[in-house]
Amino acid sequence: MSWSEPAGAPAWSGPGTPDAGAATAETAPIPQSPVVELRHVRAGYGRIEVLHGIDLALSAGTVLALLGPNGAGKSTTLKVVSGLLPPMSGCFHVLGRHVNGVAPETLARAGVCTIPEGRAVFPNLTVSENLRMMTYGGASRRQVEERAFARFGRLAERRRQLAGTLSGGEQQMLAMARALSADPALLLLDEISMGLAPLIVDELYDVVAHVAAEGVAILLTEQFAQAALRVATRAAIMTQGRIVAEVAPDEVPADLADAYLGGGISADRTAEAVPA
Ligand code: ATP
Repeated sequence: MSWSEPAGAPAWSGPGTPDAGAATAETAPIPQSPVVELRHVRAGYGRIEVLHGIDLALSAGTVLALLGPNGAGKSTTLKVVSGLLPPMSGCFHVLGRHVNGVAPETLARAGVCTIPEGRAVFPNLTVSENLRMMTYGGASRRQVEERAFARFGRLAERRRQLAGTLSGGEQQMLAMARALSADPALLLLDEISMGLAPLIVDELYDVVAHVAAEGVAILLTEQFAQAALRVATRAAIMTQGRIVAEVAPDEVPADLADAYLGGGISADRTAEAVPA
């Protein structure tokens, strides 16, 4: 499917088109559409519904941390946003366009870039070869490498090493370098801290903060939240396929403990579950 309205899709009723924010110096700034927006999205596997009406919205340069226990639906939410799992119902918009049912590769071309759980690198290729595959978008090998090595100096030292022999943290850096070479508008990060030492996790999240400061919207999931909350703009707490609270990062710990005990968020907090 091309980057166009799917047949029968409801018309976009948001604030503007993807170009709406491209104001010149002479014109007043026009509010931009969120980079991604889910409204009442239900999704699942086969006939089993796993997400029971998700609402979220992210603007350029913001980091939303999706937190919650095993099986809460965090990865499923990312699958919907990456286009791997079409919503059963509800609305899914990217850069102001209704994209329910749009193919993942089309969303990728529109700037939605995913780093799935586990490391998305080719273990039998070297660091340089992994990066070279990202030249398909038109950038030269040198440009791709320069950008990657500027962000992750350690990859430069290991450019001839097979990716499968890198440490876990270095593999995650390579996965991020590959994703960022595509110049995404929206970056989806699924548990990038998985199995990594705290120092490496901090280093990765420093890069996440830089990337957000460059204007990329970032939706990330984490089961263990501290490192992510250091760079997050907002945190959405998920349990049992629902976002039960959306809060500032410094409001999270007590709520998260509640969520992990399985009792859900307290009633007064649930009342604050405000989709942006
Ligand atoms: P974790 O932190 O353990 O990765 P999560 O919050 O990311 O958990 P999901 O992976 O989204 O949770 O899973 C949500 C629910 O959907 C779980 O009950 C899971 O068993 C179910 N599920 C996930 N993937 C599939 C699948 N491919 N087929 C059927 N059910 C699935």
